[in-house]
Amino acid sequence: MSTDTTLETPSETVSPILKSVNPATGEVIAEWPVHDADAVTAAVGRARVASAAWRELGFDGRKKALLRWVSYLVNHADELSELIRKENGKPLEDAYLELILAVEHTDWAAKHAKKHLSAKKVSPGMLLANFEAVIEERPVGVVGVIGPWNYPIYTPNGSIAYALAAGNAVVFKPSEFTTSIGNYYADAFAKANPELPSGIFSTVNGLGATGAALVASGVDKIAFTGSTATGKRIMAAAAERMTPLVLECGGKDAAIVADDADVNAAADGIAWSSFANSGQTCVGTERIYVVDELADQFVAAFKDKLKTVAPGSGDTATYGPMTMPSQVEVVRSHIADAIAKGGKAVVGGPESVRAPYIEPVVLIDVPEDSLAVTEETFGPTVTIKRVKNNDEAIALANASKYALASTVYSKSKGMEIARQLRVGMTSVNSVLGFAGVAALPFGGVGESGIGRIHGEQGLREFTRPHSIARQKFAIPGMELLSFSRK
Ligand code: NAD
Repeated sequence: MSTDTTLETPSETVSPILKSVNPATGEVIAEWPVHDADAVTAAVGRARVASAAWRELGFDGRKKALLRWVSYLVNHADELSELIRKENGKPLEDAYLELILAVEHTDWAAKHAKKHLSAKKVSPGMLLANFEAVIEERPVGVVGVIGPWNYPIYTPNGSIAYALAAGNAVVFKPSEFTTSIGNYYADAFAKANPELPSGIFSTVNGLGATGAALVASGVDKIAFTGSTATGKRIMAAAAERMTPLVLECGGKDAAIVADDADVNAAADGIAWSSFANSGQTCVGTERIYVVDELADQFVAAFKDKLKTVAPGSGDTATYGPMTMPSQVEVVRSHIADAIAKGGKAVVGGPESVRAPYIEPVVLIDVPEDSLAVTEETFGPTVTIKRVKNNDEAIALANASKYALASTVYSKSKGMEIARQLRVGMTSVNSVLGFAGVAALPFGGVGESGIGRIHGEQGLREFTRPHSIARQKFAIPGMELLSFSRK
């Protein structure tokens, strides 16, 4: 059987050709045919056919297939990490980290689907005591996954692996900036499982129009990771068919350095959260609220940490170029707006923006209505604001339309502060810890998204509960659900 996971016949592909580019050098590394609406519909049709065989494998068979895929990815980690470095621009060690995280989630989903999704008997209650009642979690069918470029494996995998483990087929539209990585990932599944029919996990390639065609194609669920603006468009389009969706969108994450924080640990962790991956991380820190009495010490420690942080493509670079060229202008405009409104740059400044690289920029005294505070910047910049106390930090952290994740540094009040934050995820005395714990649900509140990936909730996101009540024996003359009731 074919292991080609992309569309096969020329009639199913149209121009233009999508060029895959190394963002550090501008070199074209691959060309991909763009799939039009007919091609997308055909891919979804093949996925629907293949989904029957995948469902029939049951939890144990699917677990074996997913673990074969995990082994294949581990055995090819060098090759795939190099491709991630080349097409996304991030340093090689970050590419490995992303891949390890993804593999960890697939392993967890494969091993926990049976436990969390097996049929569950529930009490029929007193009213229908002669019944048995069971909830069966059924796969939704075909899931359309639409992904971003910033973590081109890890982020869509949070939907792909969990949807597959739950018994669905997946059609994946990778970001147009990371098409080669997405196709390598799906090919790896097919190569690890040559005996399975093609179409269980396939890709369609293209720009937003290909994603829109996937949303309109009649898939049973859409799992989208990307910007809030695109998420809203997809939600409106999905309403046409009432296609259910899970949306993992933008963030403007806050870190709180509370009055009893370990300042050095906070500076170290938050510097990584803000600047790793060029700040192109949905759950990266973009706003820091530090209690007044620790502010000077924190700013000094933070600046110190950044002395060794710099972009580039060599071995010493701590982060790479901006992957998406247009994002450079977004970062530039946020820095300019902050400074025009009275903010000051204590590290870097407007001159730090030299496409495709942006040096670290740290802004202080930025009014809370500046773009650098209200909108997702998605670049290597962060704002620091002094606050009176922990309560003010909590109030400002919560005053955002975005509400994805947060970080709290506090020796004794971390959990107490975390519980007052209106977000989907919080790390206490570390950063982004929740992303690596497969059992923890991942997702946002407000304009950061709807639904959850990862963990038990992430598996259930890709099933539909089917309630079945069976009458075990009749009680003559006492049937409640009959006109013969006396
Ligand atoms: P984007 O919204 O520009 O694109 C995401 C995907 O949607 C791409 O594959 C794109 O081709 C597709 N798309 C664009 N228009 C579409 C349409 N009308 N219909 C269907 N699909 C369409 O986002 P991006 O620039 O690729 O990614 C960066 C964004 O992703 C940031 O906002 C970041 O915060 C967010 N993100 C969120 C998470 C999370 O888990 N919450 C994780 C990673 C990234």
